[in-house]
Amino acid sequence: MKPVGILGGTFDPVHYGHLRLAEEMLELLRLEEIRFIPAGNPPHRNSPGVSAMDRCEMVRLAISDHPAFLLDAREAAKNGKCYTVDTLRELRGEFGKDQPLCLLMGIDAFLQFHTWHEWEAIPELAHIAVGYRPGYAFDAGSMEQKLYEHYRKRLCGIDRIREKPSGGIIDLAIPRLEISATMIRERVAEKRSIRYLVPDPVANYIHQHNLYTSC
Ligand code: ATP
Repeated sequence: MKPVGILGGTFDPVHYGHLRLAEEMLELLRLEEIRFIPAGNPPHRNSPGVSAMDRCEMVRLAISDHPAFLLDAREAAKNGKCYTVDTLRELRGEFGKDQPLCLLMGIDAFLQFHTWHEWEAIPELAHIAVGYRPGYAFDAGSMEQKLYEHYRKRLCGIDRIREKPSGGIIDLAIPRLEISATMIRERVAEKRSIRYLVPDPVANYIHQHNLYTSC
C-alpha cells in the first residue's frame, strides 16, 4: 500500500518551503497523497491575526493544481486546542489499521518533537519522515537525549515505511529553501515583495485581504 503523507503546520501563510518539502517527500517516499492540515488555534503563539479560514484558503489556492495534494481542514474547523496525536487517531480510524501513514516535518519541528502532547504515542499511529538540510547538524549533540534515543531506536529505511502502517522514523536530505512564514509576514508588514517566496495566488490573496499588514 502506498503511504499517505500528512503535513501539519500553522501555514501562516503557506510558502514554497512547505510546498517543496511536500513535493520532495511525495517523490522520495512514493506517497499516494499528502494531506495539508492547517492548525486551528496554535497553542504556541499569541493568537495570530489571520483566521484559520484564511490560512486554509491560502493552502487551498497553493495546492489547487497538484493532483496529489489535498487540504484537510479538520483542525481549523474545531474550536480550541487540537493536538496532532488526536488528529492522527482520527485519521487512523478513517484509513484503517493497515494503511501506512507518514507524518512529514522539517528538522526544526522534529527537534521539538519531544515537547508535543503525548509525543510517544505518535509513532504508534504513523511513521515520521524528517526533511533535513545536508550539512545540518542532526545528531546526538543537537537533540534532547530522550528524543535521540527514540530516533535511534526507530530509524528505518523506505521499505519499512511502505510495508508497515506506523512505527518508523526516516530522515531524508532535501534541499531546504530558506523561507519561513515569519519572513513572509515581516516582508508584507514592511511592504516588501513576497513574489517567488509564495505562489502568486497566495500573494494576491494576502494583498486583497490586507493580511499581515502589521506583524
Ligand atoms: P513560522 O515562521 O511562523 O514559525 P514556518 O514557516 O516554520 O512558520 P510552519 O507552518 O510552522 O511554518 O511549518 C510547518 C512544517 O513545515 C514544519 O514541519 C516545518 O518544519 C516545515 N517547514 C517550514 N518551512 C520549511 C522550509 N523552508 N523547508 C522545509 N520545511 C519547512
